[in-house]
Amino acid sequence: MKRRIVVPGEKLGVVEEFIPNEGIREENGNLYSLYLGSLYEKDVKLSVRPFKRPVLPLRPGEIALGEVRSADRSSYNIHLVALIKPRKALLNPPVQAVMSKRPPNLGVRPSDILLVKINSTKSGLITVTMNGPPELGVILSFCPVCGAPLRKGVGYTLVCENCGKVYLDKKISSRYGWNPFKEGMVAYAKKRSTR
Ligand SMILES: [Zn+2]
Repeated sequence: MKRRIVVPGEKLGVVEEFIPNEGIREENGNLYSLYLGSLYEKDVKLSVRPFKRPVLPLRPGEIALGEVRSADRSSYNIHLVALIKPRKALLNPPVQAVMSKRPPNLGVRPSDILLVKINSTKSGLITVTMNGPPELGVILSFCPVCGAPLRKGVGYTLVCENCGKVYLDKKISSRYGWNPFKEGMVAYAKKRSTR
């Protein structure tokens, strides 16, 4: 049985190859992870088990990893899945946050993975922003047409090497493509998930 860390929205395969079990969402024949967690592959069965939750109040100024879940007229609904800096911790279940639709936050799409800064936590409402140092922004984005992960091009462009589409409408993190779970976070995640 193979095992690796996956992020919400990550494409894991297609229905012709695998049978989706828990923690997997199917859309147009593609299989996506619902959680930040461990991917289990047994024969043709796929499942994702989310990491367990550390209890943590978030603090303004901290850098977090989040997934865009939806958008309305004035804001984006973000699920924060981990704290990155200065504290490193997984947030499971994800913590809900709101990001205003103002520059430089504009242009993100559901399933985009972002590095954001916690703005405020007043009265239980967590607001976040991509405004700040160059590391804040989109660190992983999937092609809305074919589901493949996008590669960073020049400046703020993202390119799909699978279908050739180019996207240039959002702030890209200077750390685009970085997977925080391959650096220290993995050991932490494994320790927590075996509890
Ligand atoms: Zn594509």
